[in-house]
Amino acid sequence: MTSCLLCFQALKSEVSWDWKWLFGEKRLCCRTCFSSFEALGKHLCERCSKESAVSVCNDCQNKQFYLDSNKSIFRYNDFAKNYMKKYKFQGDYIIGAIFQQELKQIFIKSNAIIVPIPISKERKLERGFNQTAGMLKQAGIKYEELLARKHSEKQSKKTKKERLESEQVFYLQREICHQQEIVLFDDIYTTGSTLNLAAQQLKKAGVKRVSAVTIFR
Ligand SMILES: [Zn+2]
Ligand SMILES: [Zn+2]
Repeated sequence: MTSCLLCFQALKSEVSWDWKWLFGEKRLCCRTCFSSFEALGKHLCERCSKESAVSVCNDCQNKQFYLDSNKSIFRYNDFAKNYMKKYKFQGDYIIGAIFQQELKQIFIKSNAIIVPIPISKERKLERGFNQTAGMLKQAGIKYEELLARKHSEKQSKKTKKERLESEQVFYLQREICHQQEIVLFDDIYTTGSTLNLAAQQLKKAGVKRVSAVTIFR
């Protein structure tokens, strides 16, 4: 019997709640758990996915950003925070698969190179996997690890101001020739500064457009 990856309740007793599951997709988490991930509202800033009554939010107005846009899916609520704690910090790799439907839907039509935000080699040794590449891999999405990251102090230990001003930590793993578009993938969008630093390196290398997809906002 299959159990929900998040609460371990048996999935068998539950009536199939999503037709997609009927067609070859394995059910990975129960309805109760999945509905605890809150979808973002309808009115979002077209650049950063912040909930906003106007098309470009206050944060994004007058801001010179290398990142052209960000699309997020769910609100980073307490349930999401617990999920990320389990996945990222307690190393529960398999739960990185539960957003495979959402990711497939977003990336299916994309011709761009999809690049997961990297972690440093040191962090990867400590954690065992890169959480962003892990989500893409488990969703069966083709990606390229174009960027690498220098080891630095843990982001969560820094203040918001420090994060905004933080220095460049990314570098290219190979040369890029005439690439029109790259889509960066990250788990959480907080201030956008991490994605912006990654976008800066890619634009410097000649990429025309750099956008992002993030699970949580
Ligand atoms: Zn569950
Ligand atoms: Zn915005």
